[in-house]
Amino acid sequence: MGKDWSHLVDNMSNRLAPSMAKDHPNLPVVKEEGCYYYGVDGKKYLDFTSGIATTNVGHRHPKVVEAIKEGADELGHGPSGVIIYESILKLADRLADIMPGELDCFFFGNSGSEAIEGAIKLAKHVTERPYIVSFIGGFHGRSMGALSVTSSKSKYRKFLHPTGSYQVPYAQVDESPQGVEPEQYVVEQLEKDFERLFAHQVTPDEVAAVLVEPVLGEGGYIVPPKAWLQKVRELCDQYNILLIFDEVQTGFGRTGEWFASQTFGVTPDIMAIAKGIANGMPLSATVASNELMKQWPLGSHATTFGGNPIACSAANAVLDVMEEENLLANTREVGAYATEKLKDLKDKHPVIGRVRSVGLMIGIEIIDPKTGLPNSEGLFKVLDTALENGVLFYFGGNQTEIIRMIPPLTVTKEQIDEGLRMFDEALTSYEEEIGAVNE
Ligand code: PMP
Repeated sequence: MGKDWSHLVDNMSNRLAPSMAKDHPNLPVVKEEGCYYYGVDGKKYLDFTSGIATTNVGHRHPKVVEAIKEGADELGHGPSGVIIYESILKLADRLADIMPGELDCFFFGNSGSEAIEGAIKLAKHVTERPYIVSFIGGFHGRSMGALSVTSSKSKYRKFLHPTGSYQVPYAQVDESPQGVEPEQYVVEQLEKDFERLFAHQVTPDEVAAVLVEPVLGEGGYIVPPKAWLQKVRELCDQYNILLIFDEVQTGFGRTGEWFASQTFGVTPDIMAIAKGIANGMPLSATVASNELMKQWPLGSHATTFGGNPIACSAANAVLDVMEEENLLANTREVGAYATEKLKDLKDKHPVIGRVRSVGLMIGIEIIDPKTGLPNSEGLFKVLDTALENGVLFYFGGNQTEIIRMIPPLTVTKEQIDEGLRMFDEALTSYEEEIGAVNE
């Protein structure tokens, strides 16, 4: 790897479409290992963003690297659906074992968006109904079908011709009036929102599926009460509508179980999975029961690279590593540890608002201490200083008010301490700048 590519970085904004660029953070790297990135600047950075990309078992885990190398030594890629490889069949078998309920049949694609496209298409084929109901603040991808059910940021949807979806509010966990239990409130609101939707906008027998993220991801790491997600399932059953879970972000251990479906005790009819499946190799799947999948007519959906044998070998190695290194338990334990530490930081730092988490999916709200309102300007300052200090976080939330902390599931308590020390310093430096230090 050539070391001096600073001229390429300098010219980056001319060569890479601005639409794919992110202003903060922006880190050219030369090497990745475990929980760390190594920058072109020679510095080492702790990665608290891996839940995006999604290197759940750590960057370049030796077992995954070995599986990729072995796969590439023997195989390339033939037309999917024509040439069949052992790794894809083995992966489907192993995934069927860890999936909730009857979800045991797989359509493999390359990205989360593709898995969502598949889920929508499958639901429409099976039900012969035109509409999907999704949730306000939800994010399901950037291809046009996935965008039609996405509402987390309006800029994504510009020029989108409406393609048959309706949105209802997600669990409004912070909005229950005084004296009303938040759990009871969100469940009642959900029932009312569905009643209103079906009375005024669309009838249930026109709706193919309800699509939901079990934990709102890009929309700000909102963790609904179990009862809310259970009510979503009940309403789907009551109105005879299919339920799709978008587990692109929550899947593969992020919540401390294989899937959020298991964390919440709710099983959908169709699931979209991607990100963590192959530790950075492009792979995704639309999942349903064999019975449902059989209603998708033969040959009516395909994709050139779907189920690439090398990506599938990587995914098989990921499953091995998750089991051998007991990463579900690590996620629960270290996630709880990090959440406790963050509560201490919240007591110390007036710019921290709510802290929400499940497993190693942690959201930290940054507020203006004077008004209590979301503070995206402050958030970016904190992110940039944290990066200078050596830890990479990411942002999220519908008002860009949430710092997302999503390290690899291999992260240790010592690494959490290391990262939060640098975060603490970044928060202090921002608070000094705005004169908001706690006495
Ligand atoms: N669904 C969810 C919940 C996501 O978080 C994302 C990606 N952030 C997607 C779908 C789209 O995945 P991809 O970028 O791989 O298309």
